[in-house]
Amino acid sequence: MIKLDNFSSFFVANWKLNGNFKFIDQFISKISLPKDSSKCVVICPTSIYLDYISKNKMGFYLGAQNVSQHKDGAFTGEISADSLDDINVDFCIVGHSERRQFFFEKNEEINHKSENLIKNNIVPIICIGETLEDKKKGITNDILEEQLKKSIPISSNFENSIIAYEPVWAIGTGLTPTNDEINDTHSFIREHNAKFNKFKIIYGGSVKANNVNEITSLLNVDGALIGGASLKSDEFTKIIQD
Ligand code: PEP
Repeated sequence: MIKLDNFSSFFVANWKLNGNFKFIDQFISKISLPKDSSKCVVICPTSIYLDYISKNKMGFYLGAQNVSQHKDGAFTGEISADSLDDINVDFCIVGHSERRQFFFEKNEEINHKSENLIKNNIVPIICIGETLEDKKKGITNDILEEQLKKSIPISSNFENSIIAYEPVWAIGTGLTPTNDEINDTHSFIREHNAKFNKFKIIYGGSVKANNVNEITSLLNVDGALIGGASLKSDEFTKIIQD
């Protein structure tokens, strides 16, 4: 497993259902990775391209976007943590809000997925976050507390898992919480249970080249999960450069 403590920050590109061989070849040839090796850059393509990128990657790490909660067996169409490990996947996003929303993933399932990944020495990047409705009702911290309690397995610790705080209303909308709100929420996650004190906690939701520095330099923020802006090699290069 990657030694998370070797890194000061994490920049995770979530390509979602985008990309093909041509896109990947161009992207890899165009991005310029940071000279600062304490920055960990992770690219998460769709599953079909993981093996190709695994064999062509240079200077960045490989992440999947999802994994089965089952180890093996009669689960047509699923991809296991063991097979991700076979092709040298380092990280895996779990519990992204799009999976929770469109594929009805529940905290318990996310917990099993994360546990399987850890057993295979793959770092789960476990996503949590409130909807706009939750925010308006003033129940953000309650929602996060429930997600943390149920979706993070007992085997998770600061050396084998990452938490991604992604307010659902900020994903792909161009809206972001204020910097104080982001920092306070990360501090809430870190402090509400001693288990999370030393966890790497990254922020996701409309991170772009023009706001990444202010967000990732916040005291309690250890990096960013980037969707839309990670699909443009020049913008992503700016994001990871400084
Ligand atoms: C995401 O998909 O996790 C995400 C944060 O997307 P975007 O950066 O486009 O808001």
